[in-house]
Amino acid sequence: MNFKKVRLILFLLLSIPSYQVFSQEAKQKQKYVMVIHGGAGTILKSQMTPEKEKAYKAALALALETGFRRIKAGESSINAVEAAVRIMEDSPLFNAGKGAVFTNEGKNELDAAIMDGNTLMAGSVAGVTTIRNPVSAARAVMEKSEHVMMVGKGAEKFAGQAGLEIVDPKYFWTKDRWESLQKVKRQDSIKAMEGAGEKKSLKLGTENRDSKFGTVGAVALDKQGNLAAATSTGGMTNKKYGRVGDAPLIGIGTYANKLVGISCTGWGEFFIRNVVAHDVAALMEYKNKTVEEASSEVVMKKVPALGGDGGLIALDRDGNVAMPFNTAGMYRGTVTSDGKIEVFIYKE
Ligand code: ASP
Repeated sequence: MNFKKVRLILFLLLSIPSYQVFSQEAKQKQKYVMVIHGGAGTILKSQMTPEKEKAYKAALALALETGFRRIKAGESSINAVEAAVRIMEDSPLFNAGKGAVFTNEGKNELDAAIMDGNTLMAGSVAGVTTIRNPVSAARAVMEKSEHVMMVGKGAEKFAGQAGLEIVDPKYFWTKDRWESLQKVKRQDSIKAMEGAGEKKSLKLGTENRDSKFGTVGAVALDKQGNLAAATSTGGMTNKKYGRVGDAPLIGIGTYANKLVGISCTGWGEFFIRNVVAHDVAALMEYKNKTVEEASSEVVMKKVPALGGDGGLIALDRDGNVAMPFNTAGMYRGTVTSDGKIEVFIYKE
């Protein structure tokens, strides 16, 4: 072997460890610690003004920053998801808290859930009309009651006793959502006239619904390696009084265990029938699928196979993220352990 070759081999051998260190560092940096969504649906660039797009991106970034600060300070993933979801509940841009959609009766009935992947403790509320931040009520149910789910007036009474802020139902009213309800109702009555006498199909209402969802959700991984997930929503425009969607149902719209955390958005009835969030976790646990494979199997195949649409966010214990959706867009964003924030709206 000549001297040149020896030098080359030596150089290569010496550079392997540093390369490994570098690639490990790069991997560490890419590890995601939080992922959020602000709803999936017919979100088209052609229908968006630059101002609106800017406002959505800023709200998503603020939610990510708020959750990330908690993680960085060593707080639990439960604290992080609650904090991020509260920001989006307080923003009129999203269909959760202020800015929630209206029921057929013209009310705002809110659903929310939260789950701790480490302990499998969970809490949720449904059909509440006076709790400013339903995600915090879900957390109170999880931590301060012996129950998992509370609905309506009982949940409101409990939230008040737990010291949460109670507001007049008018607080949730926004002009945009009110106009959406009027539009959907107009379409509904035209449809009803056209279809009078016809056999009611399961799909009745498909064209009449407001095709923008806007539920919010967050999944976080804390420094202790624990996952948590939370979801909050006003449900679907023109929903019948008392209807409960997938968001507050543990294992469907919201789920977390030691392996993965998931929060969903979409046409709730189809998510319920597909038991979406737990199905993703089960595909990972029992079939060894990656978070990406499991999420896309459910969102891109199983949900549309029944006729449903929507998306989800999922984060696994190694910091891998999946954000599949079968709609035109989904408000979403991520933050990595080094604080890098990214937000997206359309298909990239
Ligand atoms: N999944 C929600 C529901 O059906 C709606 C949404 O995601 O916006 O209640």
